[in-house]
Amino acid sequence: MPVHTLIGVGYDSNIFVVTGDEPIIVDAGTGMHTRKVLDKISTMAPGLAPKTIVLTHRHIDHVGGASEMAAKFGAKIDIHEADAHSVETGDLRSTAASTFGCALKPMAVNHLHDGDIISTGDHELKVLHTPGHTIGSMCLFEKESGILISGDTVFANGVGRWDLPTGNRSDIERSVKMLLSMKPKHLFPGHGEVVYDSASEAIKESLTMLGEF
Ligand SMILES: [Zn+2]
Ligand SMILES: [Zn+2]
Repeated sequence: MPVHTLIGVGYDSNIFVVTGDEPIIVDAGTGMHTRKVLDKISTMAPGLAPKTIVLTHRHIDHVGGASEMAAKFGAKIDIHEADAHSVETGDLRSTAASTFGCALKPMAVNHLHDGDIISTGDHELKVLHTPGHTIGSMCLFEKESGILISGDTVFANGVGRWDLPTGNRSDIERSVKMLLSMKPKHLFPGHGEVVYDSASEAIKESLTMLGEF
């Protein structure tokens, strides 16, 4: 499954473009660099017309650019139901928008649930609800190629923070262990470098750092 990576600039999350008959974009950055991001996307995949922007969780560094991107492409925005209310109401605190000094306009979103399938036409990504970083954090997993898009639940070098509003340490531990049980091969995290071929090893190490594995 072709996944194109735009490593986050400044505070922006990484942004992933999954191409196919029905391309999707995963995460949208803070919104501070959306123009540049859109330029990069049009250079990378000319004429790309994603119909869906999937947000891995409610935090501003992932959702801030979503409205502008959705308007540009005429796309809908998907987010797990447990994080949906915060972006529908533009809640500055639990999205961390106030911490980043960002504005967040309420946005209309489609609610995702654990086990939902998002199709790119060529491939199917399964929604995995992974609470812990936020209560509505989710990952996308494509079984055939072993691709895991993990948001801020787990990175190349550690697990996500659990001390922010709606975060929970035992939840994130359980979520990361569940992800490991899927035996992912490639890890596309919300921040930092992508891990090719050794995703499970990286996740195991991240759990070790948590002191629980
Ligand atoms: Zn983040
Ligand atoms: Zn986050």
